[in-house]
Amino acid sequence: MSTLITGGTGLVGAALKSVVQGPSFFASSRSHDLTRPEDVNRLFEEVRPSKVIHLAGMVGGVKANSDYVADFFTNNIYINTNVLHFASLYKVDKLVAVLSTCIYPDDVTYPITEDQLHNGRPHESNFGYAHAKRMLEVQARAYRKQYGCNFITATPTNIFGENDNYHPENSHVIPAIMKKIYEAKQQGGDVELWGSGKPMRQFTYSKDIANILMFLMDNYDEEESINIGNDFEYSINHVANLIADIANFKGDIIWRTDMPEGQHKKPCDMTKLHDLGWNKFTDIFRALECTYRWFEKKYPSLRGLS
Ligand code: NDP
Repeated sequence: MSTLITGGTGLVGAALKSVVQGPSFFASSRSHDLTRPEDVNRLFEEVRPSKVIHLAGMVGGVKANSDYVADFFTNNIYINTNVLHFASLYKVDKLVAVLSTCIYPDDVTYPITEDQLHNGRPHESNFGYAHAKRMLEVQARAYRKQYGCNFITATPTNIFGENDNYHPENSHVIPAIMKKIYEAKQQGGDVELWGSGKPMRQFTYSKDIANILMFLMDNYDEEESINIGNDFEYSINHVANLIADIANFKGDIIWRTDMPEGQHKKPCDMTKLHDLGWNKFTDIFRALECTYRWFEKKYPSLRGLS
């Protein structure tokens, strides 16, 4: 009765370590390259999981997504195809696979509901990643239909927390701001952040996402994907000020309005999650504080930096 977590070494994988109960196996690409069917077969043979949380994927920021658009498509298609195929062959009882809100169409009705997933093209900057993730949702539904597999998909908003990726070109907004503020503080100067700071985003602490994924394992069996995360929207500026407070940063935050900042807002609808009974989220200040304290302790031995 073991739980297999693919992508067990990543941001969400690290958060799941304190949440998963019973025997579990957190897979890494070092031991099993999931783009290779023989490695995935070996993984399922070794673990014989009854439950799978499928997190693994080639994940990156805007620049990486457009520079390596073909690799993002192909690697994610291979990983997802292999994992779901072998989960079916090894008769896994339940699989929860993770999509992303950035794969929704560019032209949508807000707040974004789950039924809009295939209603138009994703943003051009990440179309390889987005289409591969959309095919994960299609594959899960196909395996449910033909083989009766209990495969579900969940779609998280922006996630942050301990064990994030701090790569200078490849990190998400919160780790990027944390690193810039920390380094500016060490150098005693101001900090420059991209954009105006005005875009609004739904941010969710990785430990909340981990708890929700376990909750869905027991409480959600529907074919349609489910949006997951905190539906409260914060401006990037607000989050940067919170991080500056936590870091006790005395310099100024200078917004580089000549640099790109993405869409103004892209809120997702969380009605389905709330209707299932999930409403509790860690306070953003507390979540950022825990993350920043962890970051400070680890710097510079961080994913994407060392
Ligand atoms: P990370 O980038 O932190 O981790 C990615 C994981 O995938 C790592 O454990 C990595 O293993 C593994 N992986 C990558 N390639 C392979 C491979 N070829 N074979 C085996 N394992 C591989 O991701 P997150 O934890 O941030 O995200 C987890 C999931 O949630 C992803 O599917 C992502 O798309 C989704 N998501 C994330 C969001 C976010 O804001 N972070 C937002 C919405 C969705 P290793 O380190 O050993 O190479």
